[in-house]
Parts: sequence; C-alpha cells; structure tokens
Amino acid sequence: MPHSLPPQPFQPGPVESVGKKLLWLTPGLLAVAFAVLMAAWAQVNDVQAEMAEEQTLLADMASVEAQLTGRRDMEMVRLRETAARLVVAAKDVNQGFAAMPEVVAGLDRLWNRLVWLDEDNRVIARAERKAPIASSVREDLRIQATGQADHLSVFVRDVNAQGNGKLLARFEITDLLKSTDLGWLNRRYEVEFISELGEVIATTANPSRPPQGASRERPLVGFKDTSLRLTPYDASLSWTQNPKTLALLAALLLLGGVASQMTRHEMQLVSRAVTEAKTEAAWRQSMEDSALVGLRARDAEGRVLYVNKTLCDMVGYSRDELVGLKPPLPFWPPDAVDAMMARNLNTLAGGAPTTGFETRWRHKDGHSIDVMIFEARLVNSNGHHIGWMGSIIDISERRRLEERDRTHTDVLAQHARLNDLGLLASELAHELNQPLTTILTYSAGLKISLQSLHGIDPEDLAAMDAVNQHARKAGDIVNWIRRQTSRTETVRKICDLDAIVSEVVGLRMRQIQRIHATLEQNLSAADSKVLVDRIGIEQVIANLIRNAMDAVSIQDGIRTICVSTQEYVDQKSGTAFVQVTVVDSGSGLQGRTLETLCTTFYSTKSHGMGLGLGICRSIIEAHGGSLTAVDMPGGGAQFSFTIPAISL
Ligand code: ADP
Repeated sequence: MPHSLPPQPFQPGPVESVGKKLLWLTPGLLAVAFAVLMAAWAQVNDVQAEMAEEQTLLADMASVEAQLTGRRDMEMVRLRETAARLVVAAKDVNQGFAAMPEVVAGLDRLWNRLVWLDEDNRVIARAERKAPIASSVREDLRIQATGQADHLSVFVRDVNAQGNGKLLARFEITDLLKSTDLGWLNRRYEVEFISELGEVIATTANPSRPPQGASRERPLVGFKDTSLRLTPYDASLSWTQNPKTLALLAALLLLGGVASQMTRHEMQLVSRAVTEAKTEAAWRQSMEDSALVGLRARDAEGRVLYVNKTLCDMVGYSRDELVGLKPPLPFWPPDAVDAMMARNLNTLAGGAPTTGFETRWRHKDGHSIDVMIFEARLVNSNGHHIGWMGSIIDISERRRLEERDRTHTDVLAQHARLNDLGLLASELAHELNQPLTTILTYSAGLKISLQSLHGIDPEDLAAMDAVNQHARKAGDIVNWIRRQTSRTETVRKICDLDAIVSEVVGLRMRQIQRIHATLEQNLSAADSKVLVDRIGIEQVIANLIRNAMDAVSIQDGIRTICVSTQEYVDQKSGTAFVQVTVVDSGSGLQGRTLETLCTTFYSTKSHGMGLGLGICRSIIEAHGGSLTAVDMPGGGAQFSFTIPAISL
C-alpha cells in the first residue's frame, strides 16, 4: 500500500545564495561563450583562408612568370635556329635576310625587328615588321601603352666568313602578352602588367566586374622593368564582414538571451511557489503548534508518524522521542499497560468510539493527565486508509474542577449532616436532661432510704452509688453537649490530667474487662497542671480508649491497652506540655494518616459514625495542643495528645 507521510514539522530553509539567484543567466552566458568560441574559430579560419589565398596567388604569379619565361625561351630557341640558318646572299644581304622563312615567321609571331650585327656591332642586315601583330589568344587583354620592349640576342658564328656576330630580336612586351594564353588566370584575377614607371601596359580590368581582394605585385623575372599585379575577383570575406556569420551569432545570442529570460521567468515562478509553500508550511506549523488540541498520526500498526507540539507539551516528551515508536508508548501508566494495549488494538481495528473516549496518561515527570481522545481514519492522497489520526484534549483541569465541585458538594452535605446531628444532639441533650436529673434525684433518695434500713447488702449500696455517679456523669456530658451546640463559652479549670485519666479509665474498667483486655496505666504527670475544659478532655481520653478497645476486641491473642501520661518540655519553644498516650495491640493504622482518620464520617466500623477523632482533634487544638497517631513498630496503634502545662 502506498504510504504518504503526514506533514513534517516546518524547517526554515537556508537563504538562497547570490549564485543560485543568478542561475537564470546560465543559458545567456553559455550562448555568449559559444558565440565567442565561434568568433575565435572564424577568426582562425579567416587567417588560414587568407594565408591559403596568398599561397595560391603567389603560386599563380609564379606560373605566369614561368609561362612567359617559357615563351621567351622558346623565342630564344627560334632565334638560335634562325641564327644557325643565316645565309648571306651575294648581291643583297638585307633582302636575303628578310626573306628567310624563319625570319618571316618570327616577325609574324612576335619580333618587330631583327638585326644582324657583325663582330664590331655594325649592322649586316635587318628586317622589320610593318603591320602590328594581331592578338592570337587574348580578346579581353586591353593594351594601354606600347613601347615597352625587350631584346633577345644570340651569337652568330662564322657565317660565310663574315666572322662572328650577333643576332638581335626586339619584341614588345605587349605583343608577348597578346600571344600568350593567360585565360586561366583571367578567370580568377584582374591581371595588370606594369611598366617601370608605374603605368599599366596591359590589363584585363573590366568595369562591370570589379575585383574584391587585395592586389599583389611583383617584378617578372627575366623581363626587364616589368611587373605583374594580380587582384583576385572573389576574395573570401572575413567573418566580421560575412552577414551570414554575423546573423548566426546574433541569432545565437538572441536565443541565449531568450532562454535566459524564460529561465528567469520559470525561476521566479518556482521561487514564488516555493515561498508560498514555505509560508503555508509555516502557517500550518504555527497553527498546529498553537492549537489546544494535541494531534497524533499513527500508521496501521500503531507506529507514531507525527505529533504536534501541543501533544509533546501535554506528555512532556519531545517529537524525536515519540515519532517512530510503537506501542506501548512511554506515557502509558505502567500499571495500566495491558488495558491500554487492549484498547490500542481495538482502536487500530477501527473499534474506537466516534464520540471519543477518556483515558489517563502519565506525564514524563510522573504526574497523571486525563485526556479525551477522538480517533479518525488517516487517508493518503489516493484515498487509501493508512492509519489513524488522533485528536487529544487535556481534560485534567476539567476533571480537577469536577472533583473539587464534587468534594465541595460532599463537604456541604457533611456540613448539613453535622448541622442536623448538632440539632439532634442538642434536642437529645435537652430531652435527656430531664430523665437524667430524675435518675439522679431518685437514686440519691433511694440511697438515703436504703441506708435507713438495717441489714442492707453493702454491694447494693455501692451499686446505687455507681448509678448515681454514672447518672451525674451522663448529666455532665449532656450539659457539655448542650453547651457545645449552643456555642456557650466553655468553662476551663485547672486540672490534674492524671486524675482525669484515672476517672475515665475507672468508668471504662468494666467494659475493658468484658472484652478480656488488660489495661495498664503509667501516670507520671500528677505534678503538672493544665487549664482545660474537663468534660471535653474526658471525652477525648474516653474516645481514644474506646477506639483502642474496638481495635483490640477484633484481635485474637493478647489484648492490651496502655494509657500513660508524662510531662515534657519542647526544646524549640521551651514550653512545657503534658502528654497523654494510648497504645493498643490492635491491627494498627495500616498506613493511614491522622488526616484520613479525622475525615468527617470516616469509619471502618459497622457501628461507627466517623466523628470521634475529628472532634478530639478540634478539642485538643482548641487547647493549644496537638493530636498525633502512629503505628507501633511491633503492631498496634499509638494515639497521643499534648496540652500545655501551666505553671502555678
Ligand atoms: P468511629 O470510632 O466512629 O469509627 P473515629 O473518628 O473515632 O470514628 O475513628 C475513625 C476510624 O479511625 C475508625 O473507624 C478506625 O478505623 C480508625 N481508628 C481509630 N482508632 C484506632 C485504633 N486505636 N486502632 C486502629 N484504628 C483506629
């Protein structure tokens, strides 16, 4: 099943570097770099092409030179042949010379004058061409200046005893050019032959076809004072002049610029989207963190995938401590892990109530938290159920308030009951006062009557005394209760606590014997006096002895009660106290505190009212003393109270 994780906590990203921000310039910079490389390459290409053109031009010049030189050499050969066949006619040397076929052919071909000189350079014979020579091959070569001539000369040896001489052939350069086929050159260059004075002798210049390239000129070797100048028609263009190359580079730069601009636009869109996403994540995070509801996402196996800050604060564990954990979770109370595990399985199986359920967790610091949990199905973007999303509300405070209200209500109810009891006690005291007074009066009268009779059993008289004594005590108690309930100021008198203890013990002795308990008295405060409400203190001692009797009566084995008094001085305050202690061999307090035992209506007895110890404590504290209760090390309980002693 495809898993899509729940939103992770927002983490602010690093600030974008300037380099990253300017990333959009890359396509443009790449285009510029490529264009520079192309330009460099074109420049190198241009230089190479120029060098190649130069080479070709030089080679072509050399070819022209070679061609013209070859032509001249051929004419030299012809001249030599002519010289070898010279015949001297007896009558007219000139006529014979001019009629020679070689001479005629030479004049027709190129020479415009042929002179035969003897050893002393005297003319033996001469022949001249009359008409200008017709161009044989060059239609396009325009002769611009004539007169630039050159000579060929060969030696003539021993012709008919005429001695050694020379044969000189004069020809014009222009005639040589006219009769030499330089058409191949003409196709590529504008050809110009230049005289030593710089004038153009012959040219192929054509106004309708101007040359493009740079001219190059060099003297023709073997031809006196004549130079050849070639200017190419089709000079290759430098890349800086080539519109195609420039257009290509411009298009490249334009494309790079457009690509950069588009990249920038895209980056702005992406940056805006990222900023919006980050803002949204920050919003969501702050909303989740400020929520009062704890959120927890779990996968289908109960593994924690996500928790928000509220939940972390609620349980005291950090996000890192919780995410990835499987049940049992650390905030489950150790004593309820089994129950929690069972409920967890029920939740994972989809059995959690939609109305939520309450449970109790334990904070990391150990205190309990009451929580309300609502579980909802967690689905991914494809709609697949991948786990459970829990919304958790801390209801501890609500629980505490409810508890306080409940306690308050209980206290009110207790007060109401106490009030009722007070009223009842007041009425009972009122009602009992009359019969007790009657009992007292009758018992006193009866004793007097019995004493006047002879032979009366002394035990009967003692019984009558006891009835009288108990009736008086009962009357005192009833009056004390009436004073308590009517809030009349209690009367305090200087008393001897040992005497009070003895009296109370004496009145309880029969009951103690009835439960087969032994009572031990250790009274050692006879010299100490206290200022007390005697009946109230008697009630306290009587209540402690009665509780001790109740405690030992349900105990097997030896039943002992020990009542002791002693005086002591508090070291801190220096005050003297008289302490009364009642120790029994009962079951003890079993860890309960005096606070618990003094709680109004708290009683473990079927017939108990749970009022005794509370009333005792308030009577003692009203006297400036204190009541304490502890377990005895060997079993049983020890109750003791103190009353400040007075110095007389
Ligand atoms: P009551 O005697 O009506 O129960 P008290 O306020 O006198 O009310 O006592 C409250 C409770 O304190 C008793 O129910 C009993 O559980 C406990 N208690 C009092 N005295 C003793 C004792 N000596 N040993 C053990 N438990 C005692």
